[in-house]
Amino acid sequence: MTYVIVEACIGVKDRSCVDVCPVDCIYEGEDMLYIHPDECIDCGACEPECPVTAIYPEEDVPANQQAYIAKNKEVFNSENPPGRPKK
Ligand code: SF4
Repeated sequence: MTYVIVEACIGVKDRSCVDVCPVDCIYEGEDMLYIHPDECIDCGACEPECPVTAIYPEEDVPANQQAYIAKNKEVFNSENPPGRPKK
């Protein structure tokens, strides 16, 4: 289990989650932020910080957002992986 960032983050990238993540596993892509699934320790600290409710535990991702579970994994293997968030 890991936490996942879904569609609501696109174009928002509020980054409040970044400030509370104890293991710095939230990265910034072109359109949205992503949680590295192998680095997340499932602490849940980021979830209530998101102003647009874009963060869910993997098991609670809404049915119409399920594709983001794979996207949060695959984006880190892409040619242009997310990097350290810009403040
Ligand atoms: Fe970071 Fe915890 Fe959120 Fe995982 S659940 S991304 S470790 S703040």
